Amino acid sequence: MKISRRSFLKLAGGATATATLTGLNVKSASAARPREPIRVHYAKEIPTICPFCSVGCGIICHVQDGKLVNTEGDADHPINEGTLCSKGSGLINMAYIYNDRGELEPNPQRLTKVLYRAPHSDKWEEKDWDWTLATIAQRIKETRDATFEKTDANGVTVNRTTALAHLGSAMCNNEENYLFHKYSRALGMINIDHCARL
Ligand code: SF4
Repeated sequence: MKISRRSFLKLAGGATATATLTGLNVKSASAARPREPIRVHYAKEIPTICPFCSVGCGIICHVQDGKLVNTEGDADHPINEGTLCSKGSGLINMAYIYNDRGELEPNPQRLTKVLYRAPHSDKWEEKDWDWTLATIAQRIKETRDATFEKTDANGVTVNRTTALAHLGSAMCNNEENYLFHKYSRALGMINIDHCARL
């Protein structure tokens, strides 16, 4: 694209004005707010991977006295080099939110127990993990046994069930997803997908 001297000066003038205004805004905003103490002082740095999508950005979790106090992009990570999108930037809010005084407090929306809604019910019930895992295993087995097809209508061997599906998670690492895939195939599932298409 050809830029004339005139349009170059216009662009440069616009950019300078924007930078000046932005600088003024930053200065006035920071002058109005009292300076916060550095939250990550003496915190232990624990590297992790963002759970939200398949980009797999690196995040540093700062933990102090067993409590998560900050999360931020990992500058040493080869994928994101410290940058994060809006979802990754808000990772800490999965566990904590800011109250009116600007302090971190546990996020009341975070689920910490299994909730189960029975078929046709409009209520959620709390369940323990033993009941939950046993019930899931039992229902998978019953469904597979009732719907497994060895051959299709043309007599071709298919060894499949179309009554079960598996949806993976970006919270899992490569090895876990490999195992999920293996067990899904072993059960005869052909409907296998992932929230981030990993
Ligand atoms: S959600 Fe955003 S921060 Fe997280 S892995 Fe994807 S692109 Fe990176």
